[in-house]
Amino acid sequence: MKKNDPLSTENEIVQDYDSDQQEFSFEEMELSPELMQAIEKMGFTDPTGVQARTILPMLDWHDIIAKAPTGTGKTTAFGIPALEHLEINEQGIQVLILAPTRELAIQIGEEMTELAAYMSHVRIAVVYGGRSIGNQIEEVRHKPQIMVATPGRLIDLMKRNVVHLGAVHTVILDEADRMLDMGFVRDVRYVLDKMPKVSQIAMFSATMSRSVMDISWIYQREPVEIVVEASDENKPQIDQFQIVANGAERLKATVKLIEQNSFEKVMVFCNTKYMTEAVARKLKKAGVKAESIHGDINQSMREKVIKGFRNGNISVLVCTDVAARGIDVEGVEAVINYEIPNENEHYTHRIGRTGRAGRKGVAYTFTSPVHQVRLESIIRYTRTEMELLEI
Ligand code: ADP
Ligand code: MG
Repeated sequence: MKKNDPLSTENEIVQDYDSDQQEFSFEEMELSPELMQAIEKMGFTDPTGVQARTILPMLDWHDIIAKAPTGTGKTTAFGIPALEHLEINEQGIQVLILAPTRELAIQIGEEMTELAAYMSHVRIAVVYGGRSIGNQIEEVRHKPQIMVATPGRLIDLMKRNVVHLGAVHTVILDEADRMLDMGFVRDVRYVLDKMPKVSQIAMFSATMSRSVMDISWIYQREPVEIVVEASDENKPQIDQFQIVANGAERLKATVKLIEQNSFEKVMVFCNTKYMTEAVARKLKKAGVKAESIHGDINQSMREKVIKGFRNGNISVLVCTDVAARGIDVEGVEAVINYEIPNENEHYTHRIGRTGRAGRKGVAYTFTSPVHQVRLESIIRYTRTEMELLEI
């Protein structure tokens, strides 16, 4: 049912979304049995806050602008309505999901595939840069109804006349703030201007930046705004420690932390590519299953490493802030800030890799007297405690 379809008034669930704060269980959303089955298989019993508030208005074809902290289940929040919107007999791409990075695009593709596990007719294509365009052209030939894409590669495929967006009715911009911050404003606008049949634009973001508001203003019609604040419930439970150590002491301390706690999934953050490689090398020498990823490592290698980390073959992932963007590996037990981040925001992003989906995590930050000012700034910014740990 399209937004302007007169039939939609027949819909039993007519909501006044402005009177807001209404939350619905999965049952109350009256989802198709195939989706309910998938949700159950994924182990989701109750919707998260953002899911409880976005799914219904999205099903009703409203434009959406949703702000919610990371790890609150935004992917499923848009994945469910996107799948419900598909019309089996229609030709062409119906749903377009834009993501800022390849890792995120891949992850969204995986979660959508899980959600669509019992919908045999659904085909999902994931296209992103850094991979041979030939393979991705092949994917498009399989006539997907859903496309997950990074903006650059998508435009490339559009210009080669491989991808046509004429039939798209649902557009989702995931991590809209980051996408627009990364300089994709023109690309996003180029894509949005090429879709004559769009009935719904949904933007998901951790923050409401100026550029997010601009795109909303230009392209959305009376969007339903959903703001989920970080509450104690969805705020990740992360114990934070500072450890005074520098130079080689940090390596010993890292190995000790891993051994003493029997950690099997740890992310170690450094500020430079060079440092990630050096730390991974030294950890390997010390007998730790470590690998590094950073911007200069080619795509297939990065994917291999992330996969290894996900399935447990690699227990320590050493990375830069850029390389870690959008990676959501389940069950990261600890984050170690081998080097204190230069930006306060990076600290939040780094430690947010652990303690996801209601699980407890732990974060360690190495400091030395010269880093005291930086450290205090982070503590003020995050308004949290960072206990001093001696090892
Ligand atoms: P966000 O995009 O908001 O950062 P994600 O969509 O990546 O969050 O979801 C974070 C984690 O929460 C994922 O591992 C996902 O499988 C899980 N998750 C999503 N929805 C639910 C739910 N309703 N119940 C339990 N876990 C969920
Ligand atoms: Mg997300």
